[in-house]
Amino acid sequence: MEKKLAIHGGTPVRKELVPGMLRGALVVGAEEEARVSQVMRAASMNRYYGPDNQAAVSTFEDRMAEAFRIPFVLGLTSGTAALVVALKALGIGYGDKVIVPANTFTATPGAVICCNAVPVYVDMDETLNLDPADLERVMDDEVKAIIVVHINGQSCDMDRIMPFARKYNLPVIEDVAQSFGASYKGQFCGTFGEIGAFSFQMQKIVTSGEGGAIATRDFRLFERAVRYHDQGSFRDKGRYVTEGSGLSVGEAFVGQNFRMTEMAGAVMLEQWEKRDAIISHMRKYHRRIKSALAAELPGIKFRGTVDEQGDLGCILAFLHDDAANAKQFVDAMMAENVFTYFMYGAKPIYMTPFLLNKQTAEKNNFPFDYPFKNPVEYAPGMCPNAERILPRMTLMPISPLMTDTEADEVIEAVIKVYRGLGLLEKATARA
Ligand SMILES: *Cc1c(COP(=O)(O)O)cnc(C)c1O
Repeated sequence: MEKKLAIHGGTPVRKELVPGMLRGALVVGAEEEARVSQVMRAASMNRYYGPDNQAAVSTFEDRMAEAFRIPFVLGLTSGTAALVVALKALGIGYGDKVIVPANTFTATPGAVICCNAVPVYVDMDETLNLDPADLERVMDDEVKAIIVVHINGQSCDMDRIMPFARKYNLPVIEDVAQSFGASYKGQFCGTFGEIGAFSFQMQKIVTSGEGGAIATRDFRLFERAVRYHDQGSFRDKGRYVTEGSGLSVGEAFVGQNFRMTEMAGAVMLEQWEKRDAIISHMRKYHRRIKSALAAELPGIKFRGTVDEQGDLGCILAFLHDDAANAKQFVDAMMAENVFTYFMYGAKPIYMTPFLLNKQTAEKNNFPFDYPFKNPVEYAPGMCPNAERILPRMTLMPISPLMTDTEADEVIEAVIKVYRGLGLLEKATARA
């Protein structure tokens, strides 16, 4: 009855690997091509001018702002740029510390360091998101902001994070790079804090290959963001300053160039139209696979959640009894041709050697040379839950093109591997 696992020489459930990590990139088609061509025919590739400007970037910004029910959205060159622009808008810099979760992509602490501030790491829990109970531990009066990261399609516990931030008067940046369209209690992620930072890089939910955006309700922050991303300029005031808003225009300062191209804007306009289809497809198959597995494999554990409805369903994450089981699961699933992986090498981000050792591109490892009252110390063991949970958590992407057959094969493979390796028996024996 039990089938021989592919890893033990049996026949794999699937002939070919289930498509991996792409989402919006998988549904790029004639629509994006036509819209980009329109920009090219108009020879107006810059958002601010050109002989026949198509206003692709600004139209995209308007659509996103309207749907997210937030007044200001600014298109940018990347998610990393979005984090840097957000920190700069808030005036975070040398001598400041910024709270960053242990489980995130390098870009999150990287953006903090780019702004001459230093990250302090807060632990995570079984949701893979930051653990609000650990926030107090890292707090001191040199901490000037929090970046919360909604990792892999799922919101953080905003009902617990926002009161902490308010208590210490800390601005909140939400890193929504992996969770465009996810929500918490019916409100879109990226609209809770002072600024939401989005990425449209190739692996993200909607994409222009590279790209990003920030969203904010605060006109003053928005103006600073616009200025920082456009060499200090605040062009097109008519577009930004609405009549009767009563908002004054702030001061100029030195900026950089993080302007989104019209080609990226054109692609984003079409990806925007496809977002609901992408998300509802992933959600449908995520639910189907998860509930089939829960029914067939009593005792199976998944990643925790603070809002199941708001989850994008872009990955299904399994929590294993121990790291050895997790490793066996990944190897056996890959042999069955179902793509399964560990997040970021199953380690918290601060274990990356250049972050752990405070290696920057600057002299004297600036900005870590700042004479903090309470200097940051990084070491293994710093966030014990992240170090314990990440090696036990395995992830399986759900594609926006998944078919019924693929979903059935994924379910079959997971059941085959859990039973074949006796993963749940071991867990029950130990419990
Ligand atoms: C991808 C990502 C970023 C950076 O986005 P880019 O567009 O690649 O610069 C930032 N934070 C997280 C959590 C990400 O996954």
